[in-house]
Amino acid sequence: MNDIAHNLAQVRDKISTAAALCGRDPQEITLLAVSKTKPASAIADAIAAGQRAFGENYVQEGVDKIRYFSEASPHALQWHFIGPLQSNKSRLVAEHFDWCHTIDRLRIASRLSEQRPASLPPLNVLIQVNISDEESKSGIVPEEVDALAEQVAALPGLCLRGLMAIPAPEHEYQTQFAVAQQMAVAFARLKARYASVDTLSLGMSDDMEAAIAAGSTMVRIGTAIFGARDYTKQ
Ligand SMILES: *Cc1c(COP(=O)(O)O)cnc(C)c1O
Repeated sequence: MNDIAHNLAQVRDKISTAAALCGRDPQEITLLAVSKTKPASAIADAIAAGQRAFGENYVQEGVDKIRYFSEASPHALQWHFIGPLQSNKSRLVAEHFDWCHTIDRLRIASRLSEQRPASLPPLNVLIQVNISDEESKSGIVPEEVDALAEQVAALPGLCLRGLMAIPAPEHEYQTQFAVAQQMAVAFARLKARYASVDTLSLGMSDDMEAAIAAGSTMVRIGTAIFGARDYTKQ
C-alpha cells in the first residue's frame, strides 16, 4: 500500500470507530478528501484506493483537476468547492463543481443558480455558519440561517443540502462537542423544513470524533490523508 492508501484506510477506521462509539452507522458519514495544493498524482492514488469525493479551496486549481480527471479517470468523481467564494469566480464553480459548501449570502447563491448550466443537475449547496470563530468573516450567524435558507431553496439552479461550519480550533473534546452540537441543532431544524436537506459538513482532522458524535454526515480531511501542505510552491 502507498502512503495515501494507508492513510485513507486509517481515516476510514477512525470514522468507523467514532461512529460505533455513539451508535451511528458509519455509512451515514461521507469522507471528503481535501486535496487543495496536492498534485494530480496524489489524487490518483486516493482514487485507486476507492476515494471518490474531493474538496478543493481554490477555484482555478480545482477546475484544472476536474478537467484533468474527467479525461484521466473512468470513475464518477464528486467535486466539492469548500473555499471562500468571490463573485467573479462563481461561474467556474457553477460550471464545474458538484457541490459548494460556502454559501453565506444571497448574492452569491443567485449568481451560482443563474450560472449553473441547464445540462447539469442543480448545484448542491450548503450554507456556511459562523458557529464559534468571531475572528472569521466567513459564514452567517445561526439566527440568519432560516431567512437565507428560504431564499436559497427557491433558486432553481441550486439544491439546498444543509449546513457547513469551520469551528475555531479547540483542543478540549467537550468544547468541540458543545460547538458541534449547536450546529447539529441548527441542522435538525433545517432538515425538518426541507426534504432536500441531509448533509451536515462538520469535522476536520482534529475534531472529527466530536463532530461525528454530534451528528456530522460529512467530514473534511486533508492532512491526515495527503500529508502536510506546502504553500511555498504556490
Ligand atoms: C483545508 C481544509 C480542510 C482540511 O484540513 P486538514 O487540517 O488538512 O484536514 C477542511 N475543511 C476546509 C474548509 C478546509 O479549508
